[in-house]
Amino acid sequence: MLLPVHPQPFQGELLSSWMVRLAFSNVFALHTFYFSLLGYRAPIWNRDIDRHPPFTLLKILQNYTQQTPLAIQSLTLEYYEGILFEALPIFGDTAWLLPAGIYHRTRRRAGIQFCPLCLKNDIEPYYRRVWRLAFCTVCREHCCLMLQHCPNCDSPVVFHRHGMGRIKNTETFALRLCHCCGFDLGMAEPTQVNWPDEESRSIMCGLLNILDGDDWSGRLPSLCSPLSFFYGLRILLGAIGGRNGEKVRVSLSARLGFKIEAEPNLDFEYQSTKARFNLLTAGLWLVSDWPLRFVEVFHEAGFTRSRFSDNLHSHPYWLYVQVALNLDTRPYLPSDPEIAAAANFLVASKIAVTTESLGGLMGIKSDLARRAVVNWKANRSRSDNTQSDG
Ligand SMILES: [Zn+2]
Ligand SMILES: [Zn+2]
Repeated sequence: MLLPVHPQPFQGELLSSWMVRLAFSNVFALHTFYFSLLGYRAPIWNRDIDRHPPFTLLKILQNYTQQTPLAIQSLTLEYYEGILFEALPIFGDTAWLLPAGIYHRTRRRAGIQFCPLCLKNDIEPYYRRVWRLAFCTVCREHCCLMLQHCPNCDSPVVFHRHGMGRIKNTETFALRLCHCCGFDLGMAEPTQVNWPDEESRSIMCGLLNILDGDDWSGRLPSLCSPLSFFYGLRILLGAIGGRNGEKVRVSLSARLGFKIEAEPNLDFEYQSTKARFNLLTAGLWLVSDWPLRFVEVFHEAGFTRSRFSDNLHSHPYWLYVQVALNLDTRPYLPSDPEIAAAANFLVASKIAVTTESLGGLMGIKSDLARRAVVNWKANRSRSDNTQSDG
């Protein structure tokens, strides 16, 4: 069976936005439409329906709208699997995803942003999939900062609430209004952003295009995959915005001409839109001339390898190799075979193996050399004993 009115999803639309438009276009409130009319009995709106929607719901939507399963699937956040994250977890905080903080039907956090000018210019207002991402801080088209709250009452944007409760507004235009106070979000004052240079704008917008379906050009940095790139970038942003990053932030702020004011105890996804925009601009500025800018800034700020992470080996190679090569301030520790080779050379040259002679030959400090001599002697007597036992 086909619905009398079944609007096509718009380019880059979010599943929940399309589902609300579907019900409103047929002039139904959400519960009546999905529960009574389409016969979907499980709860929809007290969970994050854009994240792994149940198969039965997708099947119903497919039957009633004639959209292909792939087209419907691509409206969900699973679209970013293999780009921003390997696999989208069912619940919980996820890198690059704005936290939704759903508690029953109330939402403590927005989880979605909007561009007032996009909503204003839409023939029929709708919400974009990319607006759920912490990476999306600015509108590509209108160059203004994304908004997360109603400027009139500070409520998070929960557009499906129009189709619920005692007073229901089931016009599709309602998607433009704050569910709490009715303010027209399309009339919110846009805040223009200042890019440090044209290249920064082009990189950020290029990446936003990729999150909306453009091919991955592999331009940044050195031909890695999008997954590896975004994974590394997120680690880099954590380092810049985190507790140890103050000197890095100061150095970057001076170079880029804006102040990076991140809350050091908050993850990137929890930062304000302005802070995320500044952090991202700085991070992309670093990777756009990789690794020169990174090495210079992090070196100058005295940011060491150990501050990056305890498990550096799990980082993507393009980042790992630069951190290991350039930010490692640990003293050189020679291996046992290296010590044995140096000591044997001294023995063959008829020089006594002492702290001074071994330290001088290997170019290591006396405390290390003393330990190396003790270890070498212990290893030698152990191997002598093994040979005499044999
Ligand atoms: Zn816009
Ligand atoms: Zn409001």
